[in-house]
Amino acid sequence: MKTISYIFPIYNEAENIPLLYETVKDVTRPLTDRYKLQFVFVNDGSRDESLEQLKQIQEQDPSVVVVDFARNYGHQIAVTAGIDYADGDAIVIMDSDLQDPPRVSLDLIAKWEEGFDVVYAIRASRKDSLFKRATAHAFYWLLHSVADIHIPRNTGDFRLIDRRVAEELKRYTERNRFLRGMVSSIGFKQTGVYFDRDERNAGETGYPLRRMWAFALDGFFSFSSAPLKAISRLGYGMAILSLLGALYALTVKIFFPETVIDGWTFIVISVFLVGGIQLIMLGVLGGYIGRIYTEVQNRPLYSVQDVYAANSPRANG
Ligand code: UDP
Ligand code: MG
Repeated sequence: MKTISYIFPIYNEAENIPLLYETVKDVTRPLTDRYKLQFVFVNDGSRDESLEQLKQIQEQDPSVVVVDFARNYGHQIAVTAGIDYADGDAIVIMDSDLQDPPRVSLDLIAKWEEGFDVVYAIRASRKDSLFKRATAHAFYWLLHSVADIHIPRNTGDFRLIDRRVAEELKRYTERNRFLRGMVSSIGFKQTGVYFDRDERNAGETGYPLRRMWAFALDGFFSFSSAPLKAISRLGYGMAILSLLGALYALTVKIFFPETVIDGWTFIVISVFLVGGIQLIMLGVLGGYIGRIYTEVQNRPLYSVQDVYAANSPRANG
């Protein structure tokens, strides 16, 4: 019998865990005659009752594994740990706030049974704020136009991956993780199914604007060196502009010396402009250098405080 693992990253989801667990159990009941099921919850340093609830569930249900992080490492690392601890021949990754409806996982599994290795859930509609939709749209458009790989639009991390893909993912040891990009670049047979994304059931988003921004930068820097190329293009552009400016100044000086240029404005503006551009470009370099630094440090991705599992080879081994 093959195993299917579900992975749930948990950050302050105490209000959602009971309903999530119930719904997922209900939805997956028809699978139990064909598959062994496993549910891996990764507690990403929650500061509420999440861990206590998960431990309770785990005590009663041997198919539940709880991985408790030593602190909050972020969603992408939590999912990574889930993949490390999952035993499944297929692994379903989904959010724990019921925004990704558990019933859709059955569609993902059906596609996997047809022979696909990666099945991502595409958001046909979503109930996020206009701001979030607009920024997400702009981000994916930009990434799409500059990145070296094809990342399907309107997909989050809600997806199914085959064991082979999971094993490949484990060889991607980078610290600044943008999983959806990594999965795309791995290849294998990929497809998508459409679904309507729900609203968060309860609680607050763990992705405030600051984190969304950092996440977008990770995606960008990890999969594109376009900003680096943009620096030199801008440099060329500036050089040409200043050449034109110099030509203009010379022409005026030689042919119209009577039109005295009161150059103060020009000088001040260009000083600020050039200074500003240089700082932005330094920032771009800093973005890459900072990431190179964390990669070179080669620290472990996460530290696990405890694992609660009844019978999981990976969790107990
Ligand atoms: N999450 C996590 N660690 C974090 C932030 C979020 O494991 O530091 C989890 C969270 O519990 C949820 C998923 O990642 O299961 C998606 O987070 P959230 O719903 O807050 O993001 P949004 O849907 O608002 O983008
Ligand atoms: Mg959410």
